[in-house]
Amino acid sequence: MIVAIDGPAGSGKSTVARTVAQKLGCLYLDSGAIYRALGLALAGQGIVKEDEVVFNNLSSILERLPLSFDVDEGNLIIRLSGRLLTDELRTPEASNLASVVSQYPEVREFATKIQRKLAFSGCAVVDGRDAATVVFPDACLKIFLTASPEVRAQRRWQEYRRRGQHITFDDVLRDLIERDKRDSSRQCAPMRVAPDAVVIDTSEMSISEVSDYVLSLVKEYCFGNSIRS
Ligand code: C5P
Repeated sequence: MIVAIDGPAGSGKSTVARTVAQKLGCLYLDSGAIYRALGLALAGQGIVKEDEVVFNNLSSILERLPLSFDVDEGNLIIRLSGRLLTDELRTPEASNLASVVSQYPEVREFATKIQRKLAFSGCAVVDGRDAATVVFPDACLKIFLTASPEVRAQRRWQEYRRRGQHITFDDVLRDLIERDKRDSSRQCAPMRVAPDAVVIDTSEMSISEVSDYVLSLVKEYCFGNSIRS
């Protein structure tokens, strides 16, 4: 059983996906973390310069990156050269690297393969940009979460502050708008609302309201408890 939750940064998808996955006893598959790790690993090899990946054979470079992806107690565990990646994945630098490297088809193919492999064994709640449109087109439930840029930037800014990362609200808003533009205008698997997705605007909703609503949709769409039939 796959539940695919797409949407832009700060729409609440990671918190909602994690909460829903825990309640269902499923894997929470944070696809953004995979792109962030790939961005950090490629930058570590010196092949991301400014806003570009400078490379000859990206596919073979990706295969040889010292990254590992595993599942432990329903969570994705990522290691770079044997070292567990946690807070490093959540920095503005990692966000921007992810947004840059995720434009490349080879990187997307690689990340798609990893997601399908990790979700293969059972049920998963995936959060991403193309989870419903490309990675898991047969998901039993597809959700697109959204919210106004200001509300999303406010959530991200508070998240950074909680972690003691110093960045101004205006910088967060500017980065977020830039990232939205890149994510929805890239040629390969741009961020789009799947035609059969349920769109939820979370601007005026709390996380628990959104999670409860998504859980009710899971019952309806994935367990055949349809209130429409
Ligand atoms: O979701 P998160 O903010 O962690 O994603 C970081 C960046 O990774 C996004 O801005 C996007 O460029 C990229 N990404 C993607 N496809 C996904 C998940 C993330 O392109 N499925």
